[in-house]
Amino acid sequence: MRLLLVEDDPMIGAGLRTGLRQAGYTADWVQDATAAELAVAHHEYDAVVLDLGLPGRDGLDLLAGWRRRALAMPVLIVTARDAVADRIQGLDAGADDYLVKPFDLDELAARLRALLRRRGGRAAPQLVNGDLSLDPATREVRLGEAPIALSAREFGILHALLEQPGVPLSRAQLEDRLYGWDEEIGSNAVEVHIHALRRKLGSARIRNVRGVGYMVPREP
Ligand code: CA
Repeated sequence: MRLLLVEDDPMIGAGLRTGLRQAGYTADWVQDATAAELAVAHHEYDAVVLDLGLPGRDGLDLLAGWRRRALAMPVLIVTARDAVADRIQGLDAGADDYLVKPFDLDELAARLRALLRRRGGRAAPQLVNGDLSLDPATREVRLGEAPIALSAREFGILHALLEQPGVPLSRAQLEDRLYGWDEEIGSNAVEVHIHALRRKLGSARIRNVRGVGYMVPREP
């Protein structure tokens, strides 16, 4: 899951980025609206964590612009503005949720999971396909009853594929989900992780779709 973090405060921004990465997200951090626009123009984000008080163009205006352009990614506003009117304005501008600073990182992570679940059209917290299940909150993967230990990247790939069983994702899409712009990507990184996943889950669990990419076949 790749997130964009828009936060001008260097201390808060660095802390949030670290926390989000520890929670298993790929997180890109920008400090103003111009850099945020550039980021969304070049990458597909699963969600945005947006501070309202930014230098120059503020977060509300940025968000309203995205919604006018029909950019639909979930947006969670984090801000020190605690007035009810600001919260209402934020939600009306197209935010999906709202946290008032200071907040707990665990709560932010839980709210993001809820947003991503709703975006995926799911009510249940777990992703289940046949006897394979993945829990984004506990980061547990099970095959039947047996827990499967995965690396962070392997988990990320399986998470992305299990969001939509039967729908292939390209290598580029998977790389985009897994790696922030300040991270080095090995030339065959995705293949290496897919190979490891097949070894742990069984080779039939992830299918190659010729000329397209990879998918998890949908199971009842
Ligand atoms: Ca700020």
